[in-house]
Amino acid sequence: MPITIAVPKETKSGELRTAITPALIGRLTKLGATVKVQHGAGTGIHAQDVLYKNTTIAQNANELYADSDIIVRVQPPSEEEVTHMKENSILISFLYPHLNHGTVKKLLDKKITSFAMELIPRISRAQAMDALSSQATIAGYKSVLIAADNSKFFFPMLTTAAGSVRPAKVFIIGVGVAGLQAIATARRLGAQVSAYDVRPDTKEQTESLGAKFVDTGVQAIGEGGYARELTAEEKDKQAEALKKHIATCDVVITTAGVPGKPAPKILTKDMVEAMKPGAVVVDILADMGGNCELTKPGETINHNDITIVGPINIPSSMAIHASEMYARNLINLLDLMIKDNAIHLDWNDEVILGSVVTHDGVIKNTQVQKLLGEKL
Ligand code: NAD
Repeated sequence: MPITIAVPKETKSGELRTAITPALIGRLTKLGATVKVQHGAGTGIHAQDVLYKNTTIAQNANELYADSDIIVRVQPPSEEEVTHMKENSILISFLYPHLNHGTVKKLLDKKITSFAMELIPRISRAQAMDALSSQATIAGYKSVLIAADNSKFFFPMLTTAAGSVRPAKVFIIGVGVAGLQAIATARRLGAQVSAYDVRPDTKEQTESLGAKFVDTGVQAIGEGGYARELTAEEKDKQAEALKKHIATCDVVITTAGVPGKPAPKILTKDMVEAMKPGAVVVDILADMGGNCELTKPGETINHNDITIVGPINIPSSMAIHASEMYARNLINLLDLMIKDNAIHLDWNDEVILGSVVTHDGVIKNTQVQKLLGEKL
């Protein structure tokens, strides 16, 4: 019997992405799988059912999940959706188990083997499966467009018959995947760009993109080369240095994350109030609590003539490319799991073991066990 892979229609409100795009169905059939797609799964990327060639279209989730061995999604399923899934099937999706206890409990009850895309280890071999990076690239790019759209000034320097226009000063806080893409995009638009991060490696990366690195004298590297939370003393030192710089900027884009923690509050009310009237803040960590104290997730507010934008689920706003990139990440992971038309889960593979959440009725991932503790 060939393996059946199911592509459901995403159910989370506002989610336009889909886990597999029509152009990539061929990669699944090459693995020997048959593919079932739920009616309307591609609506958000303007892909009608007929474009999903060599697949079966299921009219609803019940029909889709009934005999599917592997279910691929973007957003975590609801508890109710898990009840329709086959016992012992495999689910691959963003899962955020620490935020979705009910869903994890249902996955355990149904002995579903679940893999969380956000837990794929950030190692060289797994780069092609790294959905956090692919989606952060989109968020970084789009954050600059959002800033430009909300600004009342040009980004590039212009010399025109109506006079010269100076370039906008754009400051990026957090030089990770999203921050680097934001620097590159703002530079392409002609802005004068500066950036800051607590990881010292980012100085060279910032400068290689033609931007200026702002040194606050605070460095904070944590586990696995990621940033750690700052001490109160470091926060004060950072705030003092940043406040002066931010007061000279037209745009501040914040992208600073600490894994497994709410977004650090870097941009205080006080700093925003010291900005130039008409300046714009785009806080792409809005749905993680925000890097700016004043951010309201999903809203654009005006505080003392400063516009503060708190976009949520930015990748969904570029659903076509976001889905294409996500689908490739997902299929590259499936390549590790399907051999000779059969599912082989190699628990000695750090990618498989690092991204699994539940298996055979238990939480298999030690990192997730620690995170959930007694909560389940
Ligand atoms: P992230 O989204 O967790 O954070 C974004 C950036 O914010 C990081 O660069 C972080 O240092 C910075 N930051 C955190 N707290 C800060 C603070 N208080 N002030 C200023 N900046 C702060 O990170 P990310 O973009 O997902 O990934 C960044 C890290 O992961 C880097 O070490 C990167 O090299 C690594 N990475 C490795 C791979 C790979 O090897 N496959 C892939 C992607 C990323």
